[in-house]
Amino acid sequence: MTRREIFSLLRTLLLTLAVVMLLLNVWFSQTREENWQTPVTAWMYPINADGEIATQTWIDQLSDAHFDDMERFFDREAARYRLGLERPIQIQLAAQINAIPPDIPLEPSIVDAVIWALKMRYWVWKYDDTPREPRAIRIFIRFYAPDNPGPMQHSLGLQKGLIGLVNGYAGGEHAGRNNLVAAHELLHTLGATDKYDMDTLEPIWPDGYADPTQFPLYPQTRAEIMSGRLQVSPGWLLLPPSLDHAVIGPATAIEINWLSAGN
Ligand SMILES: [Zn+2]
Repeated sequence: MTRREIFSLLRTLLLTLAVVMLLLNVWFSQTREENWQTPVTAWMYPINADGEIATQTWIDQLSDAHFDDMERFFDREAARYRLGLERPIQIQLAAQINAIPPDIPLEPSIVDAVIWALKMRYWVWKYDDTPREPRAIRIFIRFYAPDNPGPMQHSLGLQKGLIGLVNGYAGGEHAGRNNLVAAHELLHTLGATDKYDMDTLEPIWPDGYADPTQFPLYPQTRAEIMSGRLQVSPGWLLLPPSLDHAVIGPATAIEINWLSAGN
């Protein structure tokens, strides 16, 4: 092969790679429309992320009841939007997975994000061989012992693939917050987008506020679930302790098809 031929081949390869990445990106960002005629099941898979005995003890005593506050939250919010389903999202505990999911890149480029999403889907395929209904959502919760010194990884929800990855601390006092994060990632899989500023973590007004038209605006006492935090006053952010202090705002309700945009 001449040098020219090699260059030409390389160029073709690179172009093909670029097109493949582009197509994968389009495929992964496709929206899934849930029509809410019947309930959706979300399976929660615990993972012992640090291998600690305390973490395992916590996982061993988990049951479906541990996620009741998530079901209550979705029931209550669905009723507000007159969805017509008493229990739109059923939460079920799945068997523990004895493997660690691929690390989420810290500040991913589009290429990193696509590669991670591919790795994650391969990981799920490899370690979860339980057949699930096609609309089922899978949320993987990496539990850490509360005294774990290492920083926790990001939580993340993938719409395409209906997969969420959540980090949580073992122990009853953290359960409310873990489930708040799990509900946030679960809503990502249904098409909801973040409603906070990525740099400051502050909720974006009005969509990221639970009570955007309240006067005076501060203190907010509840959080919109897709902003996750509530603004007590300018410069004072609070992560609510449980889903009792969170709502699904109209912008999120439109994204997950609980409310039509014309309403
Ligand atoms: Zn998010």
